[in-house]
Amino acid sequence: MGYMKKILLASTNKNKVREIREMLKGSYEVLSLQDLDCDVDVKENAYTFLENASLKARAYYDLTGIPVIADDSGLSIAYFNELPGVHSARFYKDYDYFQRNTKILEIMKDIKDRTAHYTCAMVYYDGKEEQCFVGEVYGEIALEIAGTNGFGYDPIFYYPPMKKTFAEISAEEKHKVSHRGIALRKLVAHLEA
Ligand code: IMP
Repeated sequence: MGYMKKILLASTNKNKVREIREMLKGSYEVLSLQDLDCDVDVKENAYTFLENASLKARAYYDLTGIPVIADDSGLSIAYFNELPGVHSARFYKDYDYFQRNTKILEIMKDIKDRTAHYTCAMVYYDGKEEQCFVGEVYGEIALEIAGTNGFGYDPIFYYPPMKKTFAEISAEEKHKVSHRGIALRKLVAHLEA
């Protein structure tokens, strides 16, 4: 294995780390906060995905001196005035995701407009430059929970072009079209340019 550039993924969400690692494999030595035994928690208290990602990227760069990729993401549901959005991780936080998803389907059982989208803001910071990228993917809140792949809201995020939820498609298929995949490919294109 030749020399690979180190990048720190500033996320404690195992699923997000797994997805980003899968997408970057071969090109970078991807370190996670866990690999560094770093358990400093950075508050994500801003009002936008981009600001939250930027806060995390800068904080972890300052702590480690390693170039950082930080992401902030969430699901926005039109019927909920685009919530949970930046609050996605904390929405009904005493529930597990099966219960949260069940709750959302119950609230929306008679609602026709099921438009929803995922957003992912990804920020790269290496002490000199900060680069921000955003990916979005539009879909619908499904009528029923379906599938066991992915994580979080994926079992209720129906993606019309594939006629499946994000939990029914493979990881590779998801990365091709997902908010995180889109944002990460923009970031990698920038790093390689
Ligand atoms: P973050 O860790 O603050 O960025 O929170 C992101 C939250 O948004 C996750 O915990 C999930 O609830 C939701 N989310 C973001 N991306 C996805 C995805 O790809 N699938 C399912 N849920 C997601």
